[in-house]
Amino acid sequence: MNYSEIMVRHGELSTKGKNRMRFINKLKRNIQDVLVPFPAITVRSDRDRTHVYLNGTDYQPVVEALKLVFGIQALSPVYKLEKDVPLLVLAVQNIMKSLYHEGLTFKIASKRSDHQFELDSCDLNRLLGGAVFEVLPNIQAQMKNPDITLKVEIREEAAYISYEEIKGAGGLPVGTSGKGMLMLSGGIDSPVAGYLALKRGLEIEAVHFASPPYTSPGALQKAQELTRRLTRFGGNIQFIEVPFTEIQEEIKNKAPEAYLMTLTRRFMMRITDAIRDQRKGLVIINGESLGQVASQTLESMQAINAVTTTPVIRPVVTMDKLEIIEMAQTIDTFDISIQPFEDCCTIFAPDRPKTNPKLSNVEKYEERFDVAGLVKRAVAGIVVTEITPEVINDDVENLIDDVL
Ligand code: ATP
Ligand code: MG
Repeated sequence: MNYSEIMVRHGELSTKGKNRMRFINKLKRNIQDVLVPFPAITVRSDRDRTHVYLNGTDYQPVVEALKLVFGIQALSPVYKLEKDVPLLVLAVQNIMKSLYHEGLTFKIASKRSDHQFELDSCDLNRLLGGAVFEVLPNIQAQMKNPDITLKVEIREEAAYISYEEIKGAGGLPVGTSGKGMLMLSGGIDSPVAGYLALKRGLEIEAVHFASPPYTSPGALQKAQELTRRLTRFGGNIQFIEVPFTEIQEEIKNKAPEAYLMTLTRRFMMRITDAIRDQRKGLVIINGESLGQVASQTLESMQAINAVTTTPVIRPVVTMDKLEIIEMAQTIDTFDISIQPFEDCCTIFAPDRPKTNPKLSNVEKYEERFDVAGLVKRAVAGIVVTEITPEVINDDVENLIDDVL
């Protein structure tokens, strides 16, 4: 017997009053995005639940994918049956037989919301419990904390049976808190920052600065693969590649080496902010962590941040590097992040960048540049790509098996 659907219980959003349907619709769309690699699946939401109909798809990889989606509190794979007593008896017997081992305890928890149905929940518990004993005489019924609670629900349209409840990722559905621009390098920190932003319902667009030919196509691809990993938590993400070569060369030629990092960062911040404005985002997110490197002292952050009044969210600002690495491993971005491709910031990096840049100096050096023109050209040259979730490996393996 195969599961017919996965029942999704909504998370924190159930407290959101009037916005509830907006939240649910967003979650539904995110689930659909994430499940694109499973083309047979259909999704329907109502006020209390979202139903993921498997239509013959193997449930395990679907559960694995859904476990990551923000805004889901819990998941239950369920069997859908006709509301027919002999059929129910047979199904319950088969399920319990497939789960049985010595010493297993169980209970039947029935619920009847269709009051036309011939048996009430007490009758059902008794009848179905008895049917289990018929086929498994040694099994033990236990009302408190049994190993298996077999839930049987009789609803208007059908009967449902389930016994597994899997914890979801929690958080808010991606997109329900508005949109922000994630400054995504190829490093370890910014993908983690992106993940944490997604967790609280922010839709992110990934802004990546590339300086070809100093940075390689591999570095760009790495940033895109990191973005693809982030799509697991809430669906498709727009990836924005910014041409940064002209600016980096200008800075290299015109500014004192000690200020190169600060100036570079200020350009990045200005450009990200202009893209944000154009694309109607509300915040900027980056992977800065206090004290980690020269550009992340408070003095540096202040000098860099001075180019905008837009809120900048720094989700990993107070985390230790080891904590960030641990999280990167959990969310599966670490392996990609440590691939050795040079970032645009490291290629011209001075040996001794300024850790306490003075804003007055920074502004003086910037007089040597056509700041507005450089920003405008970079923004005009962006390339936007929609990144979608990867095809699940198991599927590909099954596909290969099928072909062979
Ligand atoms: P990360 O691991 O995220 O690269 P980091 O510790 O290496 O961070 P920096 O290289 O100083 O720190 O970068 C600080 C932040 O600036 C990054 O977390 C990221 O948000 C942003 N950033 C750096 N380089 C780029 C880039 N090429 N494109 C987009 N954003 C960048
Ligand atoms: Mg970096």
